[in-house]
Amino acid sequence: MMLEFDLKKAVAEIKKRKANLIAIQIPDGMKTRLPAMLEEIEKKASTEAFAFVDPCFGACGIKDVASKELGMDMLVHFGHTQFVSKECLPTVYIPIEYKADKKAMALLATKLGDKLKEKNIKKIALCSTIQFKEHRTIVGKELEKKRFKVFEGAGKNVEKGQVLGCNYSGIKAVEGKADAVAFIGDGLFHPIGLSFAAKKPVFIAEPVQKEIREIGQEKDLFLRKRIAMIEKTKQAKSIAIWVCTKKGQQRMKLAMQLKKKFETKGKRTYIFTSNLLIPEYIAGINVEAIVSTACPRIAFDDSSLFRQPIINPAEASVVLGEKKIEDYFFDELCELC
Ligand code: SF4
Repeated sequence: MMLEFDLKKAVAEIKKRKANLIAIQIPDGMKTRLPAMLEEIEKKASTEAFAFVDPCFGACGIKDVASKELGMDMLVHFGHTQFVSKECLPTVYIPIEYKADKKAMALLATKLGDKLKEKNIKKIALCSTIQFKEHRTIVGKELEKKRFKVFEGAGKNVEKGQVLGCNYSGIKAVEGKADAVAFIGDGLFHPIGLSFAAKKPVFIAEPVQKEIREIGQEKDLFLRKRIAMIEKTKQAKSIAIWVCTKKGQQRMKLAMQLKKKFETKGKRTYIFTSNLLIPEYIAGINVEAIVSTACPRIAFDDSSLFRQPIINPAEASVVLGEKKIEDYFFDELCELC
């Protein structure tokens, strides 16, 4: 599938602001296009441009402060929508989206509609990541033609119908009106998050494989793995609470609250901070468990990289006895900050 981004919009925004020195941020998967992009921006906007090449996973890692320190006039962030509420220099967001094949998406909507009918579902909360926005729009219209009631929720710091791994506020806004949730996209991380956020059946409509499936066993397996991490952390005598320095992930206040709580439970607790959370950074430090206050994906996706159990603040509340595992909820940065 072809990724699309609007370079013309970037050039127009640069010209509008009469900016001369431009910083660019772009996701890793797009880096091969960087030389051509820089050349085009410099030529068409009559400006000087440079690019940050350290990993960029989301707009939570916005480099406005670094751009300002480097003397830039403006930052163009490709790939994601705005995440932090205020930047310290003019910033434009150019989301990167997959181009949708209308016929294929109409077919996907038919398959999804058939599945929903089979389950006697008439009202559906529809969502996707920003990359599949066009796909979601087509599928939503097709479902409405088939007389389904379709809801797209407006959330905090996300577009209508958009989900992020750390923000399910849009779906929570409409889940009460719907019988089920349909996620247009790939991967399991978001659908599992949705199944905890919405407490309704969750269907995945995969635009690449063009398959429909309902989340079930995957959620149980996920929960079993997280319970194992929580139980191991309960046994740990020493804990590292890790705070990320990325602007949209900084949760030092929360880390300090957690430190006090763990200390009252008799655990030696330390706060560490870095821009990336990687095992090498604490390889020589003797701690028995980690609480990551950073992006929730780290504790879920990267846990096998760490020799210690790694949990997030929502799971820490179970370790501390404040919540029960039955009340398991996804760590959402927009709610806990
Ligand atoms: S914190 Fe993680 S899930 Fe949230 S926007 Fe950043 S990279 Fe994405």
